[in-house]
Amino acid sequence: MHCWDIHTHREGHPYSLFQAGKAKIVEGVPVSMGIHPWELDSNWDTHFEKIKWEAAQNPCVLAIGEAGFDRLKGPEISLQKQAFYAQASWAASLGIPLILHCVKSHDLLLEYLKSAKNPPNIIWHGWNQKSERARQLLPFPVFYSFGNQLLHPNSNAAKWLIACPLERVFFETDDSGLEIDSIYQRASLLLQIPVASLAAQVIANWNAISNRKIS
Ligand SMILES: [Zn+2]
Repeated sequence: MHCWDIHTHREGHPYSLFQAGKAKIVEGVPVSMGIHPWELDSNWDTHFEKIKWEAAQNPCVLAIGEAGFDRLKGPEISLQKQAFYAQASWAASLGIPLILHCVKSHDLLLEYLKSAKNPPNIIWHGWNQKSERARQLLPFPVFYSFGNQLLHPNSNAAKWLIACPLERVFFETDDSGLEIDSIYQRASLLLQIPVASLAAQVIANWNAISNRKIS
Protein backbone atom coordinates (compact mmCIF):
# COMPACT_ATOMS: atom_id res chain seq x y z
CA MET A 1 0.00 0.00 0.00
CA HIS A 2 1.50 3.32 -1.06
CA CYS A 3 1.54 6.48 1.01
CA TRP A 4 0.04 8.98 -1.40
CA ASP A 5 1.27 12.56 -1.22
CA ILE A 6 -1.68 14.58 -2.43
CA HIS A 7 0.11 17.91 -2.77
CA THR A 8 3.75 18.40 -3.57
CA HIS A 9 5.87 20.89 -5.47
CA ARG A 10 8.55 18.27 -6.01
CA GLU A 11 8.38 16.59 -9.38
CA GLY A 12 9.15 13.00 -10.22
CA HIS A 13 8.04 11.16 -7.09
CA PRO A 14 5.71 8.22 -7.59
CA TYR A 15 2.36 8.19 -5.80
CA SER A 16 2.22 11.92 -5.53
CA LEU A 17 0.11 14.66 -6.96
CA PHE A 18 2.50 17.17 -8.45
CA GLN A 19 1.42 20.79 -8.27
CA ALA A 20 1.81 21.82 -11.91
CA GLY A 21 -0.26 25.00 -11.56
CA LYS A 22 -0.43 26.57 -14.97
CA ALA A 23 2.86 25.09 -16.19
CA LYS A 24 3.17 22.57 -19.00
CA ILE A 25 2.73 19.03 -17.79
CA VAL A 26 4.61 15.81 -18.45
CA GLU A 27 2.53 12.98 -19.88
CA GLY A 28 1.49 10.28 -17.46
CA VAL A 29 2.33 12.22 -14.29
CA PRO A 30 -0.55 12.83 -11.87
CA VAL A 31 -0.95 16.57 -11.40
CA SER A 32 -3.11 19.32 -10.06
CA MET A 33 -3.59 22.25 -12.40
CA GLY A 34 -4.96 25.66 -11.63
CA ILE A 35 -4.15 29.27 -10.94
CA HIS A 36 -2.77 30.12 -7.53
CA PRO A 37 -4.10 33.41 -6.12
CA TRP A 38 -0.54 34.80 -6.15
CA GLU A 39 -0.35 34.20 -9.89
CA LEU A 40 -3.55 35.93 -10.88
CA ASP A 41 -3.36 38.81 -13.28
CA SER A 42 -5.78 40.44 -15.70
CA ASN A 43 -4.99 37.65 -18.19
CA TRP A 44 -5.91 34.84 -15.87
CA ASP A 45 -8.84 33.69 -17.95
CA THR A 46 -6.64 33.05 -21.00
CA HIS A 47 -4.50 30.72 -18.87
CA PHE A 48 -7.63 29.23 -17.43
CA GLU A 49 -9.04 28.36 -20.86
CA LYS A 50 -5.92 26.23 -21.50
CA ILE A 51 -6.18 24.63 -18.08
CA LYS A 52 -9.84 23.84 -18.65
CA TRP A 53 -9.10 22.13 -21.93
CA GLU A 54 -6.15 20.16 -20.51
CA ALA A 55 -8.05 19.12 -17.40
CA ALA A 56 -11.06 17.99 -19.41
CA GLN A 57 -9.17 15.71 -21.77
CA ASN A 58 -6.20 14.52 -19.70
CA PRO A 59 -7.08 11.89 -17.07
CA CYS A 60 -3.77 12.56 -15.28
CA VAL A 61 -5.12 15.92 -14.13
CA LEU A 62 -6.44 14.60 -10.83
CA ALA A 63 -7.37 17.94 -9.26
CA ILE A 64 -7.85 21.62 -9.92
CA GLY A 65 -5.61 23.89 -7.86
CA GLU A 66 -4.05 25.30 -5.94
CA ALA A 67 -6.74 27.88 -6.12
CA GLY A 68 -8.22 30.02 -3.41
CA PHE A 69 -7.91 33.18 -1.44
CA ASP A 70 -5.05 35.06 0.18
CA ARG A 71 -5.44 38.33 2.03
CA LEU A 72 -1.69 38.70 2.60
CA LYS A 73 -0.49 38.35 -0.97
CA GLY A 74 -2.07 38.55 -4.42
CA PRO A 75 -4.43 40.84 -6.32
CA GLU A 76 -7.66 42.42 -5.08
CA ILE A 77 -10.20 40.08 -3.55
CA SER A 78 -12.81 40.60 -6.28
CA LEU A 79 -10.39 39.10 -8.82
CA GLN A 80 -9.46 36.27 -6.44
CA LYS A 81 -13.15 35.47 -5.99
CA GLN A 82 -13.86 35.51 -9.70
CA ALA A 83 -10.98 33.12 -10.42
CA PHE A 84 -11.79 30.84 -7.52
CA TYR A 85 -15.47 30.54 -8.40
CA ALA A 86 -14.61 29.70 -12.01
CA GLN A 87 -12.07 27.07 -10.98
CA ALA A 88 -14.38 25.56 -8.38
CA SER A 89 -17.16 25.20 -10.91
CA TRP A 90 -14.82 23.52 -13.41
CA ALA A 91 -13.62 21.05 -10.76
CA ALA A 92 -17.27 20.29 -9.91
CA SER A 93 -18.20 19.74 -13.52
CA LEU A 94 -15.31 17.28 -14.01
CA GLY A 95 -16.05 15.59 -10.70
CA ILE A 96 -12.52 16.07 -9.39
CA PRO A 97 -11.41 17.81 -6.17
CA LEU A 98 -10.09 21.32 -5.83
CA ILE A 99 -6.90 21.87 -3.82
CA LEU A 100 -7.43 24.98 -1.75
CA HIS A 101 -4.94 27.66 -0.77
CA CYS A 102 -6.57 29.80 1.90
CA VAL A 103 -4.78 32.45 3.98
CA LYS A 104 -6.74 34.72 6.33
CA SER A 105 -9.79 34.09 4.17
CA HIS A 106 -11.88 31.53 6.04
CA ASP A 107 -14.88 33.88 5.67
CA LEU A 108 -14.50 33.98 1.88
CA LEU A 109 -14.54 30.21 1.69
CA LEU A 110 -17.63 30.05 3.90
CA GLU A 111 -19.33 32.69 1.79
CA TYR A 112 -18.64 30.58 -1.29
CA LEU A 113 -19.78 27.33 0.33
CA LYS A 114 -23.00 28.86 1.59
CA SER A 115 -23.89 30.26 -1.81
CA ALA A 116 -22.68 27.47 -4.11
CA LYS A 117 -25.35 25.15 -5.47
CA ASN A 118 -22.88 22.52 -6.59
CA PRO A 119 -19.51 22.99 -4.91
CA PRO A 120 -16.66 20.59 -5.73
CA ASN A 121 -14.96 18.54 -3.04
CA ILE A 122 -12.41 20.95 -1.58
CA ILE A 123 -9.16 19.84 0.00
CA TRP A 124 -7.75 22.55 2.27
CA HIS A 125 -4.06 21.94 1.92
CA GLY A 126 -1.55 22.54 4.70
CA TRP A 127 -4.29 22.63 7.31
CA ASN A 128 -3.03 24.35 10.47
CA GLN A 129 -6.05 26.30 11.73
CA LYS A 130 -7.91 26.02 15.00
CA SER A 131 -10.25 23.05 15.40
CA GLU A 132 -13.33 25.33 15.77
CA ARG A 133 -12.63 26.60 12.25
CA ALA A 134 -12.39 23.07 10.95
CA ARG A 135 -15.67 22.12 12.61
CA GLN A 136 -17.43 25.06 10.98
CA LEU A 137 -16.54 23.53 7.63
CA LEU A 138 -17.71 19.99 8.39
CA PRO A 139 -21.24 20.52 7.01
CA PHE A 140 -19.63 21.21 3.62
CA PRO A 141 -17.60 18.97 1.30
CA VAL A 142 -14.30 20.12 2.79
CA PHE A 143 -11.33 17.84 3.45
CA TYR A 144 -8.10 18.50 5.32
CA SER A 145 -4.61 17.80 4.11
CA PHE A 146 -1.91 17.68 6.76
CA GLY A 147 1.76 18.36 6.12
CA ASN A 148 4.91 19.37 7.96
CA GLN A 149 2.99 21.21 10.71
CA LEU A 150 2.08 17.77 12.07
CA LEU A 151 5.66 17.37 13.21
CA HIS A 152 5.11 20.12 15.80
CA PRO A 153 3.45 18.38 18.74
CA ASN A 154 1.19 21.24 19.81
CA SER A 155 0.27 22.50 16.37
CA ASN A 156 -3.31 23.13 15.35
CA ALA A 157 -2.72 20.56 12.63
CA ALA A 158 -1.87 17.84 15.18
CA LYS A 159 -4.86 18.76 17.33
CA TRP A 160 -7.34 18.67 14.47
CA LEU A 161 -5.95 15.47 12.97
CA ILE A 162 -6.84 13.69 16.20
CA ALA A 163 -10.41 15.05 16.20
CA CYS A 164 -11.05 15.01 12.44
CA PRO A 165 -13.29 12.33 10.89
CA LEU A 166 -10.87 9.90 9.23
CA GLU A 167 -12.70 10.02 5.90
CA ARG A 168 -11.80 13.73 5.63
CA VAL A 169 -8.03 13.23 5.99
CA PHE A 170 -5.20 13.58 3.44
CA PHE A 171 -1.44 14.03 3.74
CA GLU A 172 1.07 16.10 1.80
CA THR A 173 4.65 17.33 1.68
CA ASP A 174 3.90 20.63 -0.13
CA ASP A 175 7.19 22.53 -0.48
CA SER A 176 8.71 21.22 2.77
CA GLY A 177 11.31 18.91 1.23
CA LEU A 178 10.25 16.20 3.72
CA GLU A 179 9.56 12.64 2.67
CA ILE A 180 5.86 11.77 2.72
CA ASP A 181 6.64 8.70 4.86
CA SER A 182 7.68 10.94 7.74
CA ILE A 183 4.27 12.68 7.67
CA TYR A 184 2.42 9.34 7.67
CA GLN A 185 4.62 8.07 10.51
CA ARG A 186 3.86 11.13 12.57
CA ALA A 187 0.12 10.79 11.86
CA SER A 188 0.30 7.12 12.75
CA LEU A 189 1.77 8.00 16.16
CA LEU A 190 -0.80 10.71 16.80
CA LEU A 191 -3.74 8.53 15.78
CA GLN A 192 -2.42 5.18 16.96
CA ILE A 193 -3.28 3.72 13.57
CA PRO A 194 -0.72 1.75 11.50
CA VAL A 195 0.82 3.56 8.52
CA ALA A 196 -0.53 0.92 6.13
CA SER A 197 -4.09 1.54 7.33
CA LEU A 198 -3.66 5.29 6.92
CA ALA A 199 -2.30 4.76 3.42
CA ALA A 200 -5.36 2.67 2.54
CA GLN A 201 -7.65 5.23 4.15
CA VAL A 202 -6.23 8.08 2.07
CA ILE A 203 -6.65 6.13 -1.18
CA ALA A 204 -10.24 5.27 -0.23
CA ASN A 205 -10.87 8.89 0.74
CA TRP A 206 -9.63 10.10 -2.61
CA ASN A 207 -11.60 7.57 -4.59
CA ALA A 208 -14.76 8.48 -2.70
CA ILE A 209 -14.57 12.11 -3.79
CA SER A 210 -13.13 11.93 -7.29
CA ASN A 211 -14.08 10.56 -10.69
CA ARG A 212 -10.36 10.06 -11.35
CA LYS A 213 -9.15 7.26 -9.11
CA ILE A 214 -5.80 6.46 -7.52
CA SER A 215 -4.45 3.11 -6.34
ZN1 LIG B 1 1.63 24.09 -2.24
